Amino acid sequence: MAIERIVDTGVHDEDSEEQIIEVSLRPQTFLEYVGQERLKTNLQLAIDAAKKRDEVLDHILLYGPPGLGKTTMATVVAREMGANIRVTAGPAIERAADLASILTSLQDGDVLFIDEIHRLSRAVEEVLYSAMEDFKLDIVIGKGPGARSVRLDLPKFTIIGATTRTGSLAAPLRDRFGHIYRLEFYKPEEIGLIIARAASILGTEIHTEAAQLLSTRARLTPRIANRLLKRVRDYADVNGDGIIDTTVTTSALTLLEVDELGLDSGDRNLLEKMIDLYGDTPVGLTTLAALTGDETSTIEDFYEPYLLQIGLIERTPRGRRATPRAFAHLKKPSGEA
Ligand code: ADP
Repeated sequence: MAIERIVDTGVHDEDSEEQIIEVSLRPQTFLEYVGQERLKTNLQLAIDAAKKRDEVLDHILLYGPPGLGKTTMATVVAREMGANIRVTAGPAIERAADLASILTSLQDGDVLFIDEIHRLSRAVEEVLYSAMEDFKLDIVIGKGPGARSVRLDLPKFTIIGATTRTGSLAAPLRDRFGHIYRLEFYKPEEIGLIIARAASILGTEIHTEAAQLLSTRARLTPRIANRLLKRVRDYADVNGDGIIDTTVTTSALTLLEVDELGLDSGDRNLLEKMIDLYGDTPVGLTTLAALTGDETSTIEDFYEPYLLQIGLIERTPRGRRATPRAFAHLKKPSGEA
């Protein structure tokens, strides 16, 4: 991505202090995990049933925009199961042999979390099929005519896969998950609770109205809520007495160029170009990416989900279109608005 965005939902190589804070802000139990009630109820039931039968938990696929709590949920599930968790990501498992070495190092009951599971290569995916289904690993030893295939027994483990897009996942892989759940954007009240909880862990005083204000600017996403809170806390420490009130919050958000809907200059630039160049006619994804100089996956994962959620753009069979609400938000004249 060209510019670093405060509202970016991706994980950055932040300094180690930030990473420690991030770890301590991460909920550890279902009780601490705010929102996503349907997901929690279903997973709690699955955990209770697996424990009662003394079985390993079925594989779980979590999907939804970045920053909504997929990794966090995987760690909560492992903890509630009393299991160890191994964390990896699709792009990190380059060859089938990499996956084989991870799988053979697991123990019975372990959870293997694979982030960005849609980015696994086809060859790696194929090894995963029999591993997920029968807990067997098929490997080929040797090359050429002398090559032979052996089947190894694996421990019984649970894969928790996370993806921003189920559409990019091969159907045979998707079918091997016993549980498939979508994480939803949070309600502003839930984001408010997440901010209050994070402020108390960070030892920062925040006024209720300031937490409310911040909760409307965080793109309904916990990762952004925590990040904005930390930036506003910096501002309060430097420019005031460290207490976060609405005045401090408003000034910090203005400095960060985050507007009333939680949009930053990147979003506004995208919408402005859509409106100025295409009005309310649909624009294709690759054209949108060219407009902002981003990858199409950045548009799909980072910009679009929230803009769709709050109704500033809509999807049509011929592309994405700015809605009358977008025209109004950017104060652009529109025939429909
Ligand atoms: P994802 O894996 O979906 O990109 P993460 O699980 O890494 O998202 O969540 C990002 C951060 O947001 C976490 O470090 C955690 O502090 C916070 N977070 C996520 N979900 C919740 C939640 N339900 N309640 C409180 N904090 C949350």
